[in-house]
Amino acid sequence: MNTWNNSAERDYNLRVFDEELNDFLPGKIFDAHVHIAPPDGFLPCGPFDCAGVLLTSYTYDELAADLKTAFPNRHTEALCFGFPNPKYETARNNAYVGGSADFQRFFPLRLLDPQRDTAEAVNADIERHGFLGLKPYPDYARPGDVANAEIPEMLPDWAMAIAHERRLLVMLHIPRPKRLEDPLNRRQLRALCTRWPGAKIILAHVGRAYYLRGVTGLLDDLRELPNLYYDPAMVQNWEVIAYLFRKVPVAKILFGTDIPIALAQGKAVEINHQYTYVTPRPWALSLCDEKRKLQFTSFLNEELRAIKQAADAAKLSRAEVAAFFYDNARALVDEVAARVAPHRLKSP
Ligand SMILES: [Zn+2]
Repeated sequence: MNTWNNSAERDYNLRVFDEELNDFLPGKIFDAHVHIAPPDGFLPCGPFDCAGVLLTSYTYDELAADLKTAFPNRHTEALCFGFPNPKYETARNNAYVGGSADFQRFFPLRLLDPQRDTAEAVNADIERHGFLGLKPYPDYARPGDVANAEIPEMLPDWAMAIAHERRLLVMLHIPRPKRLEDPLNRRQLRALCTRWPGAKIILAHVGRAYYLRGVTGLLDDLRELPNLYYDPAMVQNWEVIAYLFRKVPVAKILFGTDIPIALAQGKAVEINHQYTYVTPRPWALSLCDEKRKLQFTSFLNEELRAIKQAADAAKLSRAEVAAFFYDNARALVDEVAARVAPHRLKSP
């Protein structure tokens, strides 16, 4: 069992939830963006540093326990995939994520490593485990130059042909330092959606737009793509989410968190058109509050606060809020699972 927070932090997070979020959140939550790892899943590397909390695994049981704490009195489900890092044993991670998914609450995507995978291996895994789609990542695509990897290298034609023909989900974390602001990324994303209309592409983290300038004016040439969806995982800037709600039909937006990282204490902040994290525990990606000036809540509570403020600003109805948090993702998952994984779905 991981100890994300000490008991004072845990109590405080619950108080934030009760006072600010409980009335807003619907009864059913589908988290479309969760990372899972089997026991010792980060071998041959050391433990995974999750915003200052060291993990040696993140199993479905650990996820179930954490969801219960993070979303009190809510029914929760999730779309899950491994931790994308070519240094880990990717095949073993995929086998656990696929083989141990229950297909009632938890549904799997398969990590895609275009350097080492083949169409035969991907198809065999889909047939065996019922993976609902693919999770590519820049680190697999161009290992020697991760920062400049391009979308077609992350998702080569042979892999997209599988995703298109089987009408699979693709959870896409776009590459390159300028993210959604990069015209090459946007052009390649449009081409991907247009050329492979059977695939359903989920633009993770709203294209990694963690502050308003990173998204403003950049959805106009994407919003009409019928097979492009959006998740706001780890986005804690309410203006980004409000902009998304205004620009894109709510039916195309799926709630997602990036659990387990989202369970750590801290906040993503924008400073002078850049963003970083501020955390109470030292972490490679954050500024650490060494002077202990602040009381933190979880990244997750900060994201939920931002969603609530954005939903208010965009005047979403209760039905739209419920669709965003659950119905949209569950409908996509049901549609794909019925075709790809009938052997994994349990009859009621
Ligand atoms: Zn993620």
